[in-house]
Amino acid sequence: MSGGLGLPNPADVVATEDLSVAYEGQRRLLSTGSPRPAVRGVSLRCARGETLGIVGESGAGKSSVGRALLGLVPVTGGAVTVEGRRFTSMSSGDRKWIRRRVQIVYQDPYSSLNPSMVAADIVGEVLRVNFGLKGNERRSRVRELFEQVGLSSYHLERYPYEFSGGQRQRIAIARALALEPSAIVCDEAVSALDVSTQAQIINLLEHLQDAIGVGYLMIAHDLAVVRHMSHRIAVMFAGRIVEEGPAERVYSQPAHPYTQELLAAVPIPDPVEQRRRRAARRKLLGTAATESAAIGSEQGCPFRGRCPYAMEVCSIEPPPWVAVDGGGASACHLDDRTAALS
Ligand code: SF4
Repeated sequence: MSGGLGLPNPADVVATEDLSVAYEGQRRLLSTGSPRPAVRGVSLRCARGETLGIVGESGAGKSSVGRALLGLVPVTGGAVTVEGRRFTSMSSGDRKWIRRRVQIVYQDPYSSLNPSMVAADIVGEVLRVNFGLKGNERRSRVRELFEQVGLSSYHLERYPYEFSGGQRQRIAIARALALEPSAIVCDEAVSALDVSTQAQIINLLEHLQDAIGVGYLMIAHDLAVVRHMSHRIAVMFAGRIVEEGPAERVYSQPAHPYTQELLAAVPIPDPVEQRRRRAARRKLLGTAATESAAIGSEQGCPFRGRCPYAMEVCSIEPPPWVAVDGGGASACHLDDRTAALS
């Protein structure tokens, strides 16, 4: 994870190392606009058969990390590793290879499914282009994939508009599986679905992982969504990872003040505890938020503008990575510096 924790593992299907991403600045009169950093120095990894949850609020850089793995966004520093192949830059041939090994499922499958093609052709086209499958061979593989994602042959000849949101997401998953990837980036893949459909898709993803050992990067702003299926969690704020660790530890004993804030926003059945958490959250949000400045700043802690515990040192020195009891680490000056890992 970020801060140099842990060594790359041969079992990793995808990893990033000190990854930075920046987008073109907005061009204005007499100015070309300077690049806008979205991700700063993020190191993470996901092993075969593992789910890494990446959580954080909108604009934290989660999706940029996921897309950088596929070469879809401008990487300005660091490296991406896919199945042991390390890339500091990517040729179009590299991107083509990566997109066979790493797939992405988006929040809105409707926009990525060709509305003029029936479901069987949407999936079949991937098999034709990538494996040269034709005729009966292709049809039978499409049926297999549909079965794997819980769709029947009745759905094969239907158009995207004839499906529900959950069914469309199943088609998107079938299309991703057609390439037999080692990892799938699920970018808010269940966020737009109702709770019971969310649960069905999460069950499907878990079942597929058990069956084929695919690794998932589960990107979500909603912690409840990733809690159930993640083995490990990375919490991002302002383009950086601020905490990581085993999912159970991060949820039960969040170490970083930002993770505590995120968890305070998750609805819980106890109204007294919920009021207490919301009051703590209001206190946090009441302090001036300056994430965009923090994202671009090299100095100090990115969360300092919102943190109720901020100290002078938080504006000057980047917080050290400190191991947390129960596993993982947090980047915060509050923790004992003698335990700093970097
Ligand atoms: Fe708050 Fe400082 Fe810790 Fe950042 S380093 S989370 S500002 S206490």
